[in-house]
Amino acid sequence: MIERRWMERAVELALRSLEEGTYPIGAVLTDAEGRPVAEGRNRVLPTGDPTAHAEVEALRNAAAWFRAQGDDRRRRPGEALTLYTTLEPCLMCGRAILFAQVGAVAWGANDPYGGGHRILQAQSHYDGHRGRWSRLRTWAEPFPDLAREIRALMRRWEGLRGRLGEFPWPEPEEAR
Ligand SMILES: [Zn+2]
Repeated sequence: MIERRWMERAVELALRSLEEGTYPIGAVLTDAEGRPVAEGRNRVLPTGDPTAHAEVEALRNAAAWFRAQGDDRRRRPGEALTLYTTLEPCLMCGRAILFAQVGAVAWGANDPYGGGHRILQAQSHYDGHRGRWSRLRTWAEPFPDLAREIRALMRRWEGLRGRLGEFPWPEPEEAR
């Protein structure tokens, strides 16, 4: 089940990224009981690390959290985890999510410029917990008002870096 409060938290993290002068994208990972285990936000520009996407940061932070708990995720990597991210994951994050064996992904807004939903939706991944291949469950734009808020945030970012002409982030009804 997808919970709105975690997408709202991801939006808060995205705002923090914007304040830090980088792509406004946030992510939250929850466990099987719907409790948050890790968060991540885009840190690409402050760190100069092109892989510091919100989703990868959340997966890294989750790994540290599980190690600290003494939970050996080498045997049960991302079992039953749900990832909430403000924006449709890119190809790199899509692969990372599959490698981590995350069970479900919800993204707040589709990304017409760099989204990799086909990686997420069309491919099976090995589910170490169940010992079989399974399909990832995905939710695209489950909360329409938050999708609009996220696109507005992306427009703000593109405006700040002077690239709104190139990436206007239209509402779906405008793009038709
Ligand atoms: Zn990414």
